[in-house]
Amino acid sequence: MRFTLRTRLLLMIAGAFAGLALATLVAIAFLMNREVSRMVRNDVQASGNLLNYVLSKDSAELTKSLRMLSRQPSVKGYIVGQGNISKLDYATLSDYAHEWLPDLNASAIVMTDARGVVRGQAGDMSAFGVNLSRKEGVTEALEGTVWSGVQVNQDRLMLAVSVPVIVGNFSQGTITAYRFIDAAVAGELKKALGTDIAFVNRGSVMGASTALPKTIPTPQGYPAYVPLGGKTYVALYAPLPNTLMGKNLGFVTMRSYDRAVAPYMSFERALLALLAVALVLGLVMGGAVARGVTQPLDEVVSAAQKISQGEWPEPIEPRRTDEIGLLQRVFNQMALSLKTSQERLLGLIDTDMLTGLDNHRRFQERLEQEVRRCAISGEALSILLFDIDHFQEYNRKYGHVEGDNALKRISSILSDSVPEVAILARYGGEKFVALTPQLSIGEAAELAEAIRLQVALSALEDKGRILTVSVGCVEMGTYTQEADGLVLGAELAVSRAKQLGRNQVCRFDSVAGDGETADPYQLHRYIKDGSLATIQALAAAVDAKDAYTQGHSRRVAQYAAALARFIGLPKDDVELIFTTGTLHDVGKIGVPDGILNKKGRLEDDERAIMETHPVLGEVIVRKVPQLATTLPGVRHHHERWDGKGYPDKLQGDAIPKIARILALADTFDAMTSDRPYRKGMAKEIALREIARNAGTQFDPELAPRFVEMMEAMGVEVFEALAA
Ligand code: GH3
Ligand code: MG
Repeated sequence: MRFTLRTRLLLMIAGAFAGLALATLVAIAFLMNREVSRMVRNDVQASGNLLNYVLSKDSAELTKSLRMLSRQPSVKGYIVGQGNISKLDYATLSDYAHEWLPDLNASAIVMTDARGVVRGQAGDMSAFGVNLSRKEGVTEALEGTVWSGVQVNQDRLMLAVSVPVIVGNFSQGTITAYRFIDAAVAGELKKALGTDIAFVNRGSVMGASTALPKTIPTPQGYPAYVPLGGKTYVALYAPLPNTLMGKNLGFVTMRSYDRAVAPYMSFERALLALLAVALVLGLVMGGAVARGVTQPLDEVVSAAQKISQGEWPEPIEPRRTDEIGLLQRVFNQMALSLKTSQERLLGLIDTDMLTGLDNHRRFQERLEQEVRRCAISGEALSILLFDIDHFQEYNRKYGHVEGDNALKRISSILSDSVPEVAILARYGGEKFVALTPQLSIGEAAELAEAIRLQVALSALEDKGRILTVSVGCVEMGTYTQEADGLVLGAELAVSRAKQLGRNQVCRFDSVAGDGETADPYQLHRYIKDGSLATIQALAAAVDAKDAYTQGHSRRVAQYAAALARFIGLPKDDVELIFTTGTLHDVGKIGVPDGILNKKGRLEDDERAIMETHPVLGEVIVRKVPQLATTLPGVRHHHERWDGKGYPDKLQGDAIPKIARILALADTFDAMTSDRPYRKGMAKEIALREIARNAGTQFDPELAPRFVEMMEAMGVEVFEALAA
């Protein structure tokens, strides 16, 4: 996963805070543990000391008191039976013991004879049996020594002090006092030290300052957390002070965990709260810092993106004085110089270097804009296309430099003549174009005529040379609303002007017909995919314009292809001839209906216009690169073998073979087709006519082959073809 710079900065800041918080928590936990453990060790130490002190004091006190009592004659008397005192009076001795209990603050007192047999007792005797002769303490006292220590009797812990009763240098009995070390003692210790304490014997509790189960853990060396009865204690075990010789006996001090760690906990909570506040503050500040760094960078990035999408962003406003601000300023400078140089380059690629007019590329752009604008506003829009006549020859005669001068002169005539709103461009080589909004085709043609005259005059004035232009005019809406269609219309008009003898203005405004078929641009689109089906559809559209020759193009294509096959041309050629046949009359789209559909003979000027159709067809078909191979056939299908045809008056073999074949098929169909004002010739008569014109109008070799083929063809086949 990839993070943005801003996220990474934020994560770094948050991470630093989290690390700090964690380190603090660990440190507190460590300190807390150490402190609690120190406290508990102190507890143990203090408890041990106090216990030692108390037990030592108690045992000293008891020893002193018991020795005094053991020396009393009455006691001696009763134990050994002196004078009139009857020996070993159990009741009396027990009475004595009862009397002593409170003074000695003892839990129990036991007296034995010299054999260790109990002779008197008082207090809580539940912990003792009958014969104490083997009891530690009593045994020692019977031997004449005083004994004191801690004992466990019947699961009870107690301080025991035994003294002998010496009569005549011999131990004649013993007195033992017991003091229980129990919950009460633990309670006293707790009062003094503030910590709970439990006396234990191998883990079983023998008295505690608080309610505990029977056995508890006895952690040694290190304090441990011990859960007991719903509470947790920090506990540590220590043996009873060893002066008292308690074996396996010890005590456990227990601090309530909650109380032990409470101060640390509240400290920790406060610290955590502080850290949380600091974290929030850190994130907010970190966010601000991160934004401070990344926002200016984001501005640079989005400005750069705009540039990459071909737009020019507003300059960035540098608000910082550091490296980032510097980056922004440098970026601004870079964008500005890029923009300036782009504008300079754009200016260069939009302008024609020789004349300073807009070039073809720029013209296309502005044409599209103007066509769109006028289509919406309903304003008139005309195009004037100027083509210098015989300019190649002019160049050859006077040289290229003079040619260039002529181009410049004509371009300044144009600039001076067209209205201010007009858009003027060098369309290519020796072609200029003027796009004139607000002018109808009539006004455009007048303007064109004026310019044509001026061009011719200025050339004459300039060293008496001849230089003229042919002009084509077209108005948007006459037959097309599309930019490409307009230009094609203008080109067709120029072509006609050339065909009609040059140095003249022709309008492309006379096309009738319905819908698409009247629009050369639409036709041009129609045939763009170059498939046979669309070419046939185009042929049908062309034929539809000529009301009397329905199906003409299709039949010409079929006759021509049949002849091509008949004379053994390769398959590709046959197909090409078929396609060309289909297209051969496409230029009729540019011939006014009045001429195309005129009944009877055409006047000379009308025929001249009619005869422009092969060239107009070439202009149209040239727009479709895939159909380039059909161009010779389209242009030359009206040439004659003897050189009297049109448009180029080619002769003999100079005429492309495909055109010679088409001429046969075209003429044959024209002769055999019915017209409203005359019936079509019979097939045989038409073939005789063809045979007669071999070598004049037609190819002398192809014409007989055509006749041969048609004669060989059965009537049915012919009729099927002609249908
Ligand atoms: P047409 O009357 O049929 O238009 O004949 P044309 O000779 O004018 O037409 P063609 O297209 O055969 O030749 C155009 C000539 O224009 C060819 C070329 O030498 C010339 N030409 C194109 N651009 C320039 C240019 O920038 N300077 C000069 N001096 N001549 C140019
Ligand atoms: Mg020219």
